[in-house]
Amino acid sequence: MNDKLAAGASLGEKGDVQNSAPPPPPSRTSLIPKEYDFYKVVQDYLDRAAKVANIEGYVRTILSQPKNELIVNFPVKMDSGEVRLFKGYRVQHNNLLGPFKGGMRYHPQVSLDDVKALAAMMTWKSALMRLPFGGGKGGIKFDPHSVSRMELQRITRRFTHSLGENIGPEYDIPAPDVGTNSQTMAWMMDTYSNMVGSAQKQSVKGVVTGKPVSSGGTLGRTKATGQGLVYCILEWAKEKSFDLEGSTMSVQGFGNVGSHTAVILSKLGVSTIAVGDHTGYMFNPEGFNAHKLQDYVEAHGSISGYPGGKAITREEFFATKADIFAPCALENQIGEMEARALDVKLVGEGANGPCNPAGEKVLLDKGIDVLPDVLANSGGVTVSYYEWVQNKRSESWGEDEVDARLETAMKRAYREVSDFARNKKCDMRVAAYAIALARIESVYKEREIFP
Ligand code: NAD
Repeated sequence: MNDKLAAGASLGEKGDVQNSAPPPPPSRTSLIPKEYDFYKVVQDYLDRAAKVANIEGYVRTILSQPKNELIVNFPVKMDSGEVRLFKGYRVQHNNLLGPFKGGMRYHPQVSLDDVKALAAMMTWKSALMRLPFGGGKGGIKFDPHSVSRMELQRITRRFTHSLGENIGPEYDIPAPDVGTNSQTMAWMMDTYSNMVGSAQKQSVKGVVTGKPVSSGGTLGRTKATGQGLVYCILEWAKEKSFDLEGSTMSVQGFGNVGSHTAVILSKLGVSTIAVGDHTGYMFNPEGFNAHKLQDYVEAHGSISGYPGGKAITREEFFATKADIFAPCALENQIGEMEARALDVKLVGEGANGPCNPAGEKVLLDKGIDVLPDVLANSGGVTVSYYEWVQNKRSESWGEDEVDARLETAMKRAYREVSDFARNKKCDMRVAAYAIALARIESVYKEREIFP
């Protein structure tokens, strides 16, 4: 830990509140009930979208369940010598359009049903973005902050080994998600490449995406999800004739997606005035220095103790007036109460499933626009595809090229979803699902059902 920052020393940054003493720990309260059936929520949207797009009943039936659900229990020797058993999941929802594709989540609340919901959403995202991928998701139920780096490495390697041939560059391709990052992917790729034998070792880099650039990753992947969200916000602003310069934003979750969204938007003149993560919430009416806050979180693991803002409650965070709210943490964060409290023009879903259906209804009734997850955070899987292509071709593209391709892809998807929603008089989430379903249906109709 950086002692200087931990002691609450002023960072002297422009716009940040200057504290001479450490701020009080941010408050954490939750308004969200624990019981939440994320999988049923995704199923309900599937049903609504299938009706709007007039999808054949048998296609809807196939897509209502994942193709494969894998649970592995594996032992890991901890630093203390104790052996702990971990539970890992990989759900492979659909691979009609290409290999299963989706992130690996390390979090204490990982459950089979949530992973099923997230895997299905990956199927819709790949189809919406016209990627030759299907959908998958996985993870391990534990708190990655509670183990040492060496333990984290052993857990990741043993998990990868347990998954064995259930992953592969032409079969199922993991990527980072909550609690995992490029380092996790480097360990997974290294473990997998040591499992396949010397002759194939060099050709399996594409078994995961989101790797460090020097280990076969692509430039632009780390920020890709945030960058993709920003391209969507830019399209929304153009459509609504809204001037982003001088506007304000609040961000929940300041990890990969939240911090990059804030940093990129800060360059466009959007100031982040409220932030929150698993440790609490903070407010700065002058705007946080997104770069410095990102560096701080990188060094300390959370926003806790950051000297550039005032601690606020979760309720105060949601009631903060801003132009844009970017939920970039977890699912089921915006229920009815949060939605009633929100005083913004746009909710851009960096996270998967941050609005629950009741919350979304309140937002839409209030006239708040919602950029749905399946569209808004699909920049991650899109650039993962670019990484996979580069690995196949032994190429490395420049960051400008990656960004330019992503911009074209996100803006096209935004237009398709926005036009569909307007023409069919449905909301953008149902539109995004419907476009994806129609693409998948057309392939089922061409290929028909084996045998
Ligand atoms: P991350 O681990 O880098 O960051 C997660 C953030 O959420 C952290 O700031 C954490 O403190 C915060 N958080 C966790 N629990 C919280 C709680 N109870 N209340 C408030 N904040 C909490 O993860 P990430 O990769 O940035 O993913 C964030 C979201 O974006 C997830 O829903 C993920 O599925 C989605 N997503 C990520 C990617 C990607 O490329 N990483 C792509 C698409 C979607």
